[in-house]
Amino acid sequence: MIYIYIYIYEDEEFAGELFRFCAKAPRIGHSSVFLVELIAKLRFSSERRKFEFLMETAEKYPNIFKREGMPRPDYIYEPTAQRIFEKCPVCGGTGEPYHCAFSYRMADFDYPFQPFKLWMKCTGCGNLYTEQFPEEFLALSERQKEIVPNENSENAVSNITSAHTLAIWSDILNKLRGYTDKKALLEVGIGNGELLSVALEMGYEPNAVEIVEESAQRVSNILGIPIHCGDFLTFKSDKTFPIIIMGDVIEHVTDPEAALKSAFSLLDDDGVLWLSTPNYESSFTRLRKFTDPMWLEPYHITYFNYSGLEALLEKCGFEVREYSVSSRYNGSMELIITKK
Ligand SMILES: [Zn+2]
Repeated sequence: MIYIYIYIYEDEEFAGELFRFCAKAPRIGHSSVFLVELIAKLRFSSERRKFEFLMETAEKYPNIFKREGMPRPDYIYEPTAQRIFEKCPVCGGTGEPYHCAFSYRMADFDYPFQPFKLWMKCTGCGNLYTEQFPEEFLALSERQKEIVPNENSENAVSNITSAHTLAIWSDILNKLRGYTDKKALLEVGIGNGELLSVALEMGYEPNAVEIVEESAQRVSNILGIPIHCGDFLTFKSDKTFPIIIMGDVIEHVTDPEAALKSAFSLLDDDGVLWLSTPNYESSFTRLRKFTDPMWLEPYHITYFNYSGLEALLEKCGFEVREYSVSSRYNGSMELIITKK
């Protein structure tokens, strides 16, 4: 182990300090990157300094992430173009470093994300946002396209193995019947088509917007329905909908207010919006604190707490009618929302 410290730090005093710590806790970490994390935790009280130290280490030793059992066991760090969020994407306020996360450990970690992620907390609205995010995923797509089942669709099947999520969606649709008995719905972001398939089973008329063409085509083939491929922020429709479903979308967008305003304009005046997103003050996150996997998630840009999201919804003309703890995702909140 001493070899690893000297290899990484060439700093005898610090290596000695660390070695004494590890000797007291011999089961802590056996790979260099875990030791680097440990050093960051021990040495720096500032989340900003922790992040800088970890990124400097990644630049100096790009191979330290190669490890069997990691989401990307062959990962070698390479700098990629990152958008720096200097202002809060929710209110434009300024933020303070809140938590430095080890993103490279997350199951869906891959290029072009950075191995570490600095979460900021807005001093204005209290919501959280990532300071850096890959440019590659941020280009707003103006392209809008109707996807229909193609010639390969006859044999298309989902590899879904558990019906648990389907039953949850069925409960959610039944709950929404307390607000409208109309059957047309618009889903924003389709996942693997779970909600759309349940909506079909229960006699709804499902419509969908999905930004990833591959997902739209796959689900369209499986379910035999058309799906609109495009960015929700530039999506236009000549009709409005009695039900809009935005499951786990808002944490992915650079402008949550624009997304909610778009939902407002697409919703019937007496319609209902169902929305879910992680709550960084959820019961799950309170219990797990920074061991909650939400912090590692590379694809997320913004995290709300309930009051932060409620304030934004009110600003967009909405009113929250019901709050539930999600049974789909640990630590997410589910809201039923109508126009004011
Ligand atoms: Zn803010």
